[in-house]
Amino acid sequence: MSDLNTLTLAQARDALRKGETTSVALTEACLAAIEGAGALNAFVHKTPEIALERAKAADARLQSGDAPKMCGLPIGIKDLFCTKGVPSQAASRILEGFKPEYESTVSQQLADAGAVMLGKLNMDEFAMGSSNETSCYGNAVNPWRRGNDDAALTPGGSSGGSAAAVAADLCLAATGTDTGGSIRQPAAFVGITGIKPTYGRCSRWGIVAFASSLDQAGPMTKDVRDAAIMLEAMCGHDPKDSTSADLAVPDFEAMLTGDIRGKVIGIPREYRMDGMPEEIEALWQQGTEMLRAAGAEIRDISLPHTKYALPTYYVIAPAEASSNLARYDGVRYGHRAKLAQGDGITEMYEKTRAEGFGHEVQRRVMVGTYVLSAGFYDAYYNRARKVRTLIKKDFEDVFAAGVDAILTPATPSAAFGLGEMADADPVQMYLNDVFTVTVNLAGLPGVSVPAGLDKQGLPLGLQLIGRPWEEGDLLNTAYALEQAAGFLAKPGKWW
Ligand code: GLN
Repeated sequence: MSDLNTLTLAQARDALRKGETTSVALTEACLAAIEGAGALNAFVHKTPEIALERAKAADARLQSGDAPKMCGLPIGIKDLFCTKGVPSQAASRILEGFKPEYESTVSQQLADAGAVMLGKLNMDEFAMGSSNETSCYGNAVNPWRRGNDDAALTPGGSSGGSAAAVAADLCLAATGTDTGGSIRQPAAFVGITGIKPTYGRCSRWGIVAFASSLDQAGPMTKDVRDAAIMLEAMCGHDPKDSTSADLAVPDFEAMLTGDIRGKVIGIPREYRMDGMPEEIEALWQQGTEMLRAAGAEIRDISLPHTKYALPTYYVIAPAEASSNLARYDGVRYGHRAKLAQGDGITEMYEKTRAEGFGHEVQRRVMVGTYVLSAGFYDAYYNRARKVRTLIKKDFEDVFAAGVDAILTPATPSAAFGLGEMADADPVQMYLNDVFTVTVNLAGLPGVSVPAGLDKQGLPLGLQLIGRPWEEGDLLNTAYALEQAAGFLAKPGKWW
């Protein structure tokens, strides 16, 4: 078989089981693709020795007929996941040299399912960003380009390296994390599928914390079937994460029938934003028609508190981040600044954090500290928590009224140029998250599915939001949408 790196997880799995290829061959194909894709800056720590060792072990298990579900499938891991003995830096200078003594639960579960880790993937520093430009490694690059224009585009963020790597066939799939859209937005920007499961589905243990009440891991894959396969391996109860749900994990792949007859799909009027590009509006309309044609009932719905979601998120997320990031003090992990004669512990903290954190992270720590300070706690943090409850209630109300899933655009635009969103106005960048943050605030599952190309030939995604714990049903609706949209485009190889 040729071009093994271009296979989906399902195709590779089936080929392995039929003896048509080996995990070593798949892994070598991906490693070669990674070597040839330096220009994408997607893999930031490569682990070829670990990969080949695991691939050999996987081949032995396949031979002996005792292969777990993802046996032998090569994947990438976002740099936010702690991986034992392998640099895990969250794309931050402050974690330079940090090699964890332990493995995150999710990456351990993937290894237990037989998946082969190829290396660690680029991202925004501490997962704060929407363009991968806050990374200490420099940004990853989107494999897609606008028409004949060779300007470099963002792969989105924060899971930008994961998105670029999957879209460019450097790995069969990758892990991502999503606090406000970091799986779904980059997936949409590169034409792949990404699902953020219900809060509590995947253990957060061993994933560098950003905003603990919002963070969730999830798969970024070439199609919906792969998302179902990989999500199953990633989910499950973990006593080491007190917010992890003790619920059975269904066989998500078996739920992909494509039959959505009688399902009620809500179209929220508040997501029709002023100034939304016509192409996004048109795509949303087409997606609605596709679901209708597949037998779903389309219903206009209202989620009245949507307009408060971004400000609420940008109070809660920095507040939690400022607390989570307090641990990076130059003592316990990674980088410590060089100190001058006479410097004490305070100078050590100050200099280490000033050198170790990039500007966006510093901005979030300052905003977070401010909204949690005694004089402003009620006005900002407590108020945001109350609004969050109202946002969650909006969703509960429509689900209680019989809506099964909600269809929205995934992003307000296609991928933008690197450097196009000026650092001078962070709010411009925050507006990227307008369709995704509500889902994290409400703890719901959300999936982004590639659904079309814009006039410049760039992929656009649609988002489906589901009921809590019903990822299987949500993936099945996404599967129906995927089949109707028939998105098969791939970026032309220039790297
Ligand atoms: N772009 C959002 C932020 O910067 C979301 C990031 C994420 O989901 N990790 O906070």
